Amino acid sequence: MDRKVRVRFAPSPTGPLHIGGVRTALYNYLFARKHGGDMILRIEDTDSHRFVPGAEEYINEALAWLGIGIDEGVREGGAYGPYKQSERRNIYREHVKMLLDAGKAYIAFDTPAELEAKRAEIPNFQYDASTRDSMRNSLSLPAEEVKRLIDEGTQYVVRFKIEPGIDVVVNDLLRGEVKINSSVLDDKVLYKSADDLPTYHLANIVDDHLMEVSHVIRGEEWLPSAPLHVLLYEAFGWSDTAPAFVHLPLLLKPDGKGKLSKRDGDRLGFPVFPLEWHPEGGEVSSGYRESGYLPEAVVNFLALLGWNPGDDSEIMSMAELIEKFDFGHCSKSGAKFDFEKGRWFNHEYLQKLPDERLASLFKPVLAANGVNPDDFTDDYIARAVGMVKGRIYFVKDLWDQAKFFFKAPEAYNPKDVKKRWNEDTPRIMGELVEVLRGMADFSSAAAEPVVLEWIASKGYHLGNVMNAFRLTVVGECKGPHMFDITELLGKDETISRINKGVEVITL
Ligand code: GLU
Repeated sequence: MDRKVRVRFAPSPTGPLHIGGVRTALYNYLFARKHGGDMILRIEDTDSHRFVPGAEEYINEALAWLGIGIDEGVREGGAYGPYKQSERRNIYREHVKMLLDAGKAYIAFDTPAELEAKRAEIPNFQYDASTRDSMRNSLSLPAEEVKRLIDEGTQYVVRFKIEPGIDVVVNDLLRGEVKINSSVLDDKVLYKSADDLPTYHLANIVDDHLMEVSHVIRGEEWLPSAPLHVLLYEAFGWSDTAPAFVHLPLLLKPDGKGKLSKRDGDRLGFPVFPLEWHPEGGEVSSGYRESGYLPEAVVNFLALLGWNPGDDSEIMSMAELIEKFDFGHCSKSGAKFDFEKGRWFNHEYLQKLPDERLASLFKPVLAANGVNPDDFTDDYIARAVGMVKGRIYFVKDLWDQAKFFFKAPEAYNPKDVKKRWNEDTPRIMGELVEVLRGMADFSSAAAEPVVLEWIASKGYHLGNVMNAFRLTVVGECKGPHMFDITELLGKDETISRINKGVEVITL
């Protein structure tokens, strides 16, 4: 059947969006864009006890930061709204009634205490065809009694009446046919009179149907719910237009076994949330954005956790991912969360940024380290970062690599001093100052041969002289090409640093 691709990302606003949820959103988005379809953002807030203030805004902000565009949603609007489940109570009430009228669902009055007692009495108790007659519900009680209880305002739930002994087949695009027998399922609660709200299962199915969702792409943790969903579609008579399922593989711990958790991030030092999360009165959790990741790098990294393009390309823009994305290259086994690879992607994407852009990202880091960025031209900052960016994983690493461009060294690496400085060095550095002073052209290309010729003509040790020179200018024997450094610092600054080094460094 040819139908328009319509997918939805359907988070529950119960806290910050986990990085696994971000990957689910991304795959939905890539699939929608690839097929010219629609991407819906539906807020599934029917569990009033688990609602967390700020979570919905967080979801919007995270998706926007990553460039995961939404076509229909609470903020975007659309023809299938409202897109927040708590605003769709009438729709659910109507659909609960449809199931009740058709005898596919029933009303149950059992109190939590009664259910508890049953569980204590019967091992592995399950509310289903074998037990429902012994419970207090509209199937076991006389009709007048049911009416009386409801009229009196007794709280009740509506349960789905599952017929036992039926083979239920879930068609999953990744996993093929997943079969289970309906006898293992319990009569799930679909609606609670106490808060006049449906449960996840009912709301999810009704909305996917009404919003004409063509593909349900979600995490593997929802696979156990899928047979129930298949039966619900059937009960409503919607099987012909039921969406195709794709249950994405779990994200696994970087080491060891099991599902990726926040604790793994804390233990190994990486965020599991896209943005920093500040819970009311709780501990702040780190986010990719605040940790210095570029959104493009995060997207690229996540895209490859559970999917590959079929060749060995790794660096792919959103446009390329859209072009290449397909479920044929998705794996159904869990994907190890290789956060080192995430750092590598960030490194690669930082290399692709123009130096001017990197320089502007670096300015707040300069300020945080006590350097006023306005004391330097944009061009100066850009040239400095351009020389060291090959060594960085995050923008903040630029400080360690490039600080000497902005501040003369205040200390000199003792090991380097020991290795490269001897009693002749001050005299030789004095000569070097004279050589540099005499130069008309201080550019790297012009200065380098002059200095090298001077060293050769004097018969000095090249390594020792150049490293002592570097020590005075940089503070340690590391960094980019020496004459590129001095070109940018300029003659006066270079000479003043050599002089200061000679004055300060003692053996
Ligand atoms: N509200 C569910 C969640 O939080 C949606 C699951 C689904 O996509 O069906 O993930």
